Amino acid sequence: MYKTILNADLHCHSVVSDGTLTPEVLAERAKANGVELWALTDHDEIAGQQRAADAAKAQGLHYLTGTEISVTFAGETVHIVGLGFDASNTALQQGLRNTRGGREQRAMEMAESLAKAGIHGAFEGALKFVGNPELISRTHFARFLVESGVCRETPEVFRKYLTEGKPGYVPHRWASLQNAVNWITQAQGVAVIAHPGRYRFTANEEYALFTEFKAHGGQGVEVVTGSHTPQEYLKYAETAKEFGLAASRGSDFHSPDESHTDLGALPFLPGQLTPVWELLTDRIQ
Ligand code: AMP
Ligand code: MN
Ligand code: MN
Ligand code: MN
Repeated sequence: MYKTILNADLHCHSVVSDGTLTPEVLAERAKANGVELWALTDHDEIAGQQRAADAAKAQGLHYLTGTEISVTFAGETVHIVGLGFDASNTALQQGLRNTRGGREQRAMEMAESLAKAGIHGAFEGALKFVGNPELISRTHFARFLVESGVCRETPEVFRKYLTEGKPGYVPHRWASLQNAVNWITQAQGVAVIAHPGRYRFTANEEYALFTEFKAHGGQGVEVVTGSHTPQEYLKYAETAKEFGLAASRGSDFHSPDESHTDLGALPFLPGQLTPVWELLTDRIQ
């Protein structure tokens, strides 16, 4: 079970954050797609964990607890996935609650910014897509902009709106790298740098991210993810070896209509890496 060649999908989202499927439907889909080990990793939120674990059990899927924490590092947003933690840990719960805290205010400011660009009613429009009132995200705004015909699809939204320098963008300060890693590790979990290929860092900034992450007790990096190209699988396999990090694998699936990588539909991890699930054998449910 705990080999490199395992259909593990340790990154996806449900209606508890910015996915469109429930934890139960995701578990069914994971099973149908041949996933053997699954984790639901909602943004800054673990309210779906019990449902996901129960649904995994009902499907005969092995399960690890998960979340994806928003962090501000060197002026950029970085995502840190936590896996295999004790979801009843109060420091983790409080840290995630604080991280979610500014989202509503930010969303109102995003709507004001869009209104200045002539797009009205975006706050109420985005809210119609929100499953968890504490987790209004840019994805929900993107769905509203597609629904209202402003854009054809969500990638176009992020090219034209909601990103730095574009209407609807509001800078936000998330958790610190150190806090996010500590919340996860103090709850007996493993911290993993999510989709490193997505950040627009210089080589020096990326080196600093990995160095500081490791110094704070981070142990993993996503190598095979729906956000990486095949060249990036190889690049971050080398980075994992260089920094002595375990490797993770996850689709980052959000929705059948929006995500190009389905649950479990990824190449296996390259050989000669330590899979992150090897560090978590006693945490698998
Ligand atoms: P937020 O946490 O509110 O800043 O929203 C971040 C979410 O927006 C990510 O987790 C993705 O689901 C989505 N997102 C960000 N950039 C893009 C993009 N370029 N294309 C599609 N979705 C994106
Ligand atoms: Mn997302
Ligand atoms: Mn992410
Ligand atoms: Mn994600």
